[in-house]
Amino acid sequence: MKESVQVELVCQNENCPNYAKSQSEKQHNLQKFGFTAKGCQRYICSTCRQTFSEPYDYDALLFGKRRTAPETILNMLVKASIDGISLFRLTKLTGHKEDAIRSWAYEVASYRVSEEMVERINSHLSERNGLSEEELKIFWAFIEAKEQNRRR
Ligand SMILES: [Zn+2]
Repeated sequence: MKESVQVELVCQNENCPNYAKSQSEKQHNLQKFGFTAKGCQRYICSTCRQTFSEPYDYDALLFGKRRTAPETILNMLVKASIDGISLFRLTKLTGHKEDAIRSWAYEVASYRVSEEMVERINSHLSERNGLSEEELKIFWAFIEAKEQNRRR
């Protein structure tokens, strides 16, 4: 069962001074900014100029303790594993810290013990990121390699 929770719309860029701040009369860094190809409302943060779209529904149990949306986390890991972008470059491109990206890989690695979690992550990756069976294998091999590097 997929538990989706609607999350409050906030700036999702961790390096933004207005990161995760609730919007109010005084705090209104997010502005409407057109629509995505799928017709979801898009927003732009006037502080950091990053765009976000709605709805972004959370898998409540997926990365539950993290402040970063699972979507963001998995997108980063897909870029690293499938697109072969180094963590160093990803850091430069996205502003996410290398340590953070690495810790997400470790967290995903820790889910391998649970078939259900692997299933959840796989369905997210194939539905949202369009990964094929073959690419899923590459993704998990990447996660495994990162985990082994950590132990060394
Ligand atoms: Zn921002």
